[in-house]
Amino acid sequence: MGKLLIVGTVAFDAIETPFGKTDKILGGAATFIGLAASQFDVKSAIVSIVGDDFPQEYIDLLKNKNIDTSSLEVVKGGKTFYWKGKYHNDLNSRDTLVTELNTLADFKPVVPNDYKDADVVMLGNLHPSVQMSVIEQMAKRPKLVVLDTMNFWMDNTLEELMEVIKHTDVITINDEEARQLTNEYSLVKAAEKIQEMGPRYVVIKKGEHGALLFNEDNVFFAPALPLEEVFDPTGAGDTFAGGFSGFLAATDNTSFNNLKSAVIHGSNLASFCVERFGTERMQSLGKDEVNSRLHQFKALTQFDIELQ
Ligand code: AMP
Repeated sequence: MGKLLIVGTVAFDAIETPFGKTDKILGGAATFIGLAASQFDVKSAIVSIVGDDFPQEYIDLLKNKNIDTSSLEVVKGGKTFYWKGKYHNDLNSRDTLVTELNTLADFKPVVPNDYKDADVVMLGNLHPSVQMSVIEQMAKRPKLVVLDTMNFWMDNTLEELMEVIKHTDVITINDEEARQLTNEYSLVKAAEKIQEMGPRYVVIKKGEHGALLFNEDNVFFAPALPLEEVFDPTGAGDTFAGGFSGFLAATDNTSFNNLKSAVIHGSNLASFCVERFGTERMQSLGKDEVNSRLHQFKALTQFDIELQ
């Protein structure tokens, strides 16, 4: 069974969408990644930090999904990272209303001995120096290091970000961030430039318009499933990353063809995540419904055409 090491936030989120709002609920990039990856046959662990205000019930929820939480540090007297966001009517854009780093401000991840030989390392969106310190702790080079990041780090810590990018195999970013990182409008040119920075594979996420996978001269496009219910997009990108990295850890194959399947699995799982607030939909997601939606995915993109 493949081993997947997940590093990222475990958080309280408060979310407002045009359809409703929540108080503090379970969130965080590592949480979404872990829940999505638990759909596959993998041994996974989350390295993160919370305060002792974080309910045991949430930790148990992760444990019940077979996620190793022994490296989820609980700081006595500390407060858990808190993020509050409000979506605009089109759900494609949001305002961050509150970011309280709390215990995350002093987060120094310690990779457990048991995961220093992980096959896949999934680095959720965090300060690039924190991400880099995880790579440095690995006893051997993982088969894949997957990096998620965002424009905030490009604006504020570009040098550190470039260093961690140099050491990754796959980067997942959205289209605007790819343009910002490279000063290229064309995503094809942007992906080429990013490959020159280090990663062999570049995944560019385009929200409800799907995702692109680039590797040398190969390009693959996966649409997002047109959904009846889009309720809350929070965590969709992390769920994509969790499905993507979980599938790759489970299948032990880093060919372009297998990465194409990983993109489909990631997109498929993300399509569930957005149907309810926060992690709600992912908590009780069954294998049968995942499978049946994969069939829909296949049907959506298949066509017969007579070619000369
Ligand atoms: P996404 O919708 O994929 O951008 O991910 C949303 C998740 O990211 C939420 O559950 C938040 O707790 C978490 N988050 C929000 N802001 C940050 C940040 N600055 N650093 C790390 N994680 C964050």
